[in-house]
Amino acid sequence: MSGARPAIPLAVLRLPEQRYSCHGCGDCCRDFTVQLRPPDLERLRAQGWEERLGRPVTAEFRGGSFLAQREDGACVLLMEGGRCRIHAEHGLEAKPIACQLFPWILAPDARRAHVGISFACASVLGSRGSDLGAHARDVRRMAGDVPELAPARTFLDAATEATPEEADAVAETLDAWLRERSRPLALRLDGLAWLGQQLARARFAKVRGPRLRELMETLVTALPDELPLHPVEPPTRAQRATLRQAAFFRLEDPKIPEISRTGRLRTVVGQYLRSRRFARARGPVPAMGARWPGGFAFEAVDRVTRLEASPDVDAIDELLTRWLRATVLGHRAWGSGYHGWPVVDGLQALALNAACVRWLAQLHAAGASRAEPVLEDVRAALGRVDRACGRAPWIGSRAERMRLSYLRIDDGLRRILR
Ligand code: SF4
Repeated sequence: MSGARPAIPLAVLRLPEQRYSCHGCGDCCRDFTVQLRPPDLERLRAQGWEERLGRPVTAEFRGGSFLAQREDGACVLLMEGGRCRIHAEHGLEAKPIACQLFPWILAPDARRAHVGISFACASVLGSRGSDLGAHARDVRRMAGDVPELAPARTFLDAATEATPEEADAVAETLDAWLRERSRPLALRLDGLAWLGQQLARARFAKVRGPRLRELMETLVTALPDELPLHPVEPPTRAQRATLRQAAFFRLEDPKIPEISRTGRLRTVVGQYLRSRRFARARGPVPAMGARWPGGFAFEAVDRVTRLEASPDVDAIDELLTRWLRATVLGHRAWGSGYHGWPVVDGLQALALNAACVRWLAQLHAAGASRAEPVLEDVRAALGRVDRACGRAPWIGSRAERMRLSYLRIDDGLRRILR
């Protein structure tokens, strides 16, 4: 490990409510497909795993190199009890950089790299461990080994480049709305969707610098009076189908052994057919990896109550508020933190992601034959959504933009978040 200085300064997420330390559960090593950089490949070769284990520890896939996976999708270097073989024998710094970095997420803008955190990690979901600032030194060392870390441009809309101060102004004013837990979560989510819609009409060329902060403050201050004046109808069938399809693509993530076994074409066709079944929502829910192998009827999802009727409603509110705030303050909702999308599109995507969490939590509850979703269902749903958002290329794809364009019409985003 070089431990060189990162290419740009780092700004670690400041959110006292969010804590983290690794508790060694090994879930990330079972779940993620780890992409390797050239220095990782050199180190793995030098460590001599292939000779010792008698099998390849890397796999080539779609032009990239990855850690090889066992049939169940877990990393081949994961030992019984959830420990990493490299870590056990050579220490943390000898592991591939992606393994070391997880669950930290680097999102550079023009001046610094925001260091956010992934809710795909159980310790992050449970906010267990140290204050995030206590990890700054480790993160700095790891970031120095990320060769592609470099300043990146952020846009407010398709045509207007944002200064770091402007992106901060959006993050901070939005955070002021999201963190106000005296207001119901449903209202704050509605406000998020409404803001996304309003900002899509803004002419950013005319509201630059301090005026953008003023605009955001004005909009956020107006939300409690404005939202009741614009009530929305329940979502249409087509809007609900679009939501379910978006949720499907946040659940789906075939593993390399599965794709190799099934073949690329059959995998893609299978994905398409399952996404159609999610959109139609009739008959049994298809098995998704190891989830719901026995299947259950889609109709059961609609019988699950809303999150607000959960016995864990306070804990769910705390978790979702913390996630929304960490996403916004960590600049993971736009720019390099979200597929290079402009701020406005990223806010709309955040509203869609929140709607996906709600629906997937109901799906998980139905899969466990529960009439009310509990915290565990929301954790499972949020873990999948946040995992997909940061990394799955299809979440930043044209198809996803088309889903969002469709939901922008006729209050779609607000209606699916109702
Ligand atoms: S190399 Fe180690 S840390 Fe990385 S995925 Fe494999 S077992 Fe986990």
